[in-house]
Amino acid sequence: MFKGIQINKDEAGYRAALQDIDEASLPDGDVTVRVQYSTLNYKDGLAMTGRGPVVRKFPMVPGIDLVGMVEGTTNADYQVGDTVVLNGWGVGEGHWGGLAQLARLKGDWLVPLPAAFTPRQAMAIGTAGYTAMLCVLALERHGVTPEQGEIVVTGAAGGVGSVAVALLAKLGYTVVAVSGRASEADYLKSLGAAEILDRAELSAPGKPLARERWAGAVDVVGSHVLANICAQTRYGGVVTACGLAGGADLPATVMPFILRGVTLAGVDSVMCPRPRRLEAWQRLARDLDVTKLEAIATEIALSEAIPVASQLLDGKVRGRVIVDVNR
Ligand code: NDP
Repeated sequence: MFKGIQINKDEAGYRAALQDIDEASLPDGDVTVRVQYSTLNYKDGLAMTGRGPVVRKFPMVPGIDLVGMVEGTTNADYQVGDTVVLNGWGVGEGHWGGLAQLARLKGDWLVPLPAAFTPRQAMAIGTAGYTAMLCVLALERHGVTPEQGEIVVTGAAGGVGSVAVALLAKLGYTVVAVSGRASEADYLKSLGAAEILDRAELSAPGKPLARERWAGAVDVVGSHVLANICAQTRYGGVVTACGLAGGADLPATVMPFILRGVTLAGVDSVMCPRPRRLEAWQRLARDLDVTKLEAIATEIALSEAIPVASQLLDGKVRGRVIVDVNR
């Protein structure tokens, strides 16, 4: 038996609970991992509260991230004792995930723990941090350089936002952090933000085109915030969109794209091909100041994950949450 969170949906309703799970009920897979840490991402919050249709099979063990040691393997790429990281691939949605002491997975989904990070640091980064890196890589791929001007990061005090601010500042970009929490201004400046913008300035319906300001953007919010950012992006600028914390709609016009050549670049971490994942983790090892991770991440026990998931969806959690699944 091992401890894990399980989500059930039946005539008794939708509910998540910490419980003892029989090892014999683990799903199919060629690598069994003794989990050390998992994390809480926005999607884990949606899964555990049932506020979004994330879980596709019941019962489900949530947790889209994990790090741990290989305990058993029939996959030639891994040996017992290897430390591996998993992000996404539908784990925690359609396949049992990381918010448990044991997981059985496909070896193809795993990446070796980068030498630059401890297992705990890898989870301080987690899907949110790896997605922030994917956004930075997309800005670079589209030719955005620090000399071109300011980069705006929305949902800045959250997980993706915090890591994006730290990465972009270290790479020499001038970062404007958008947050709904004035109380997080000092935190965001400590990560490297040059200026803090109140989320309220971007939340209301705006004009199709506004004064040109941003050379690039990392948006986790969607809806009017994303539409306004596109309208404020400079000629030839690039907006990366990865989230929906403010809504899944996009009430925009085509004007920024057809009159200013703005690029809207979508970013997905879940099915992102392995070569780009490995590139993202290599770049995190090079470009993320690990001392900043201490400020970004807090650690909780597995027994605290369910209530903290609700707080995260309410926008009350700062940065990243690491979950020690063994306490
Ligand atoms: P967090 O909850 O850690 O951060 C989200 C932040 O968004 C909050 O901290 C808050 O920042 C802001 N926010 C919250 N609610 C609202 C609202 N109603 N309107 C505007 N802003 C709001 O989540 P993550 O950083 O883990 O994820 C952020 C988003 O990115 C989520 O939508 C998530 O699903 C998505 N995501 C997508 C991935 C992909 O592969 N495409 C991968 C990872 C995440 P503040 O208080 O500073 O304003």
